[in-house]
Amino acid sequence: MDEIEIVCPACNDPLYIPAEEYDELVEGDVMECENCGAALEFLSLEPLEVVVVEGGEDAFFVDCPRCGTPIEVEEEGEPVTCPECGYAFTPDWSEVEEEEEA
Ligand SMILES: [Zn+2]
Ligand SMILES: [Zn+2]
Repeated sequence: MDEIEIVCPACNDPLYIPAEEYDELVEGDVMECENCGAALEFLSLEPLEVVVVEGGEDAFFVDCPRCGTPIEVEEEGEPVTCPECGYAFTPDWSEVEEEEEA
């Protein structure tokens, strides 16, 4: 049985969809990434294009540089404050997310 490989834009891990399931997909369908839980919408099937419509459970996390607590980051470029130790910092997005603009 063939499988279609999709790379989750949220976690960059590959997802495999059985070809028979893939055949039933239509544009606008939403599936959940098995790896990170993000909701992925199929914008287009040919070429295959998926976007994250909802952050997964571990959408974007950075580790607090002071105490190592993972902190959820909601907005790119926003400073965050560690709930554990109160340390405030702005995450280095180059490590969190790859640049999308060419
Ligand atoms: Zn994912
Ligand atoms: Zn901390």
